[in-house]
Amino acid sequence: MSINFKELANKYQTPYYVYDFDHITKQYNELKSSFKARKSLVAYAVKANSNLSVIKHLANLGAGADCVSIGEVKRALKVGIPAYRIIFSGVGKIDSEIKEALTLGILMINVESDAELNRVEQIAKELDIVARISVRVNPNIDPKTHPYISTGLHENKFGVDIDTAKRMYIQCKNSDYLEPRGIHLHIGSQLTQLEPIKESVKIVSDLVKNLAAIKIELSFFDVGGGLGIIYDDEKLIDTNEYAQSILECLFGLDITVVCEPGRFLVGNSGVFVTKVLYEKVNGNKRFVIVDGAMNDLLRPSLYNAYHKVEVLNDNQEFNDCNLVGPVCESGDFFAKDVQLPKTQHDDLVAIYSAGAYCFTMASNYNTRGKVAEIAYEDGKDRLIRKRETFEDIIALEEEYIK
Ligand SMILES: *Cc1c(COP(=O)(O)O)cnc(C)c1O
Repeated sequence: MSINFKELANKYQTPYYVYDFDHITKQYNELKSSFKARKSLVAYAVKANSNLSVIKHLANLGAGADCVSIGEVKRALKVGIPAYRIIFSGVGKIDSEIKEALTLGILMINVESDAELNRVEQIAKELDIVARISVRVNPNIDPKTHPYISTGLHENKFGVDIDTAKRMYIQCKNSDYLEPRGIHLHIGSQLTQLEPIKESVKIVSDLVKNLAAIKIELSFFDVGGGLGIIYDDEKLIDTNEYAQSILECLFGLDITVVCEPGRFLVGNSGVFVTKVLYEKVNGNKRFVIVDGAMNDLLRPSLYNAYHKVEVLNDNQEFNDCNLVGPVCESGDFFAKDVQLPKTQHDDLVAIYSAGAYCFTMASNYNTRGKVAEIAYEDGKDRLIRKRETFEDIIALEEEYIK
């Protein structure tokens, strides 16, 4: 990446996010081509980074969208992802969301419980629409990732067990308002081991074969997302091996493979750039305080997640410190016990791997406006989201002051 962070800081102020769109293209093409001639759909998990220009970029590449709220469905539609490439997932869909999703005619709804299936059936009946259904199966496999981003164990709230899934498909088959269309699993995020994916896909593909034997034929096999990226020194799953092991399990089935990557497509496209305000020493602990904070980039505070950080100056004198923001929480840090050079006011700090689950988790805590987002493509930068102003932050409250 040859982005000149300093130039962007002068042009757009700090903090900001910049996303390398060419990297997103490269990641998309790598994954898409690993499925080779097989019918496949790469449905981008919009929650990773839902900036409209990011989704648009993926739409142009031919991606579909995996959405976890009706708002995300509408974002995808707005930038031209066709309804037939949009999937609606999530453990707690609201009635109004189900209704709207059915009306919009998306590819399918990933249902996560029998109670939800009943709701969908009821709503479809009221609308006199046939709902295309995919059931999210929880294969009870440990994905060997961080417990907060593990989803494929029965102790997690996601999906249903095999027997429940089978019953739900039979209910679909017997209903005038439900059409069994696909099957879904998603065992976790930031996966770096292939084995748990293979095991899960095998379990779920066996169910697909069992269903076919009772004349329930599914058209889509959705393996979920979760492919990891390098934050630090992780060893990654090879996308060709990934695709190959999935296709092996599906041998003999006429079924389209769907995958729903979020982090893999956008995570390493993004850099969060912030500016040094001050250094201080408390006792013998050194702190470098920057203008970005946990409200802008929450992952270190939320998951103790590692992000590589780099001070963009030429100083060679490195010392241990905590890199922290101005928010009034001790949890407001980007890195702890990290070796950073001596800094000066206005030095820039780059926080890498910030394209996924960073801006989308941002809040206005401490009445801080959300920062600017910038796209970098073909050697050129452009603003894709304006920095929020004080007026933006208070806009929905102001008229109610008594
Ligand atoms: C979050 C999520 C994804 C994307 O996960 P990544 O780790 O970003 O690839 C895919 N599918 C579902 C159902 C999800 O909830």
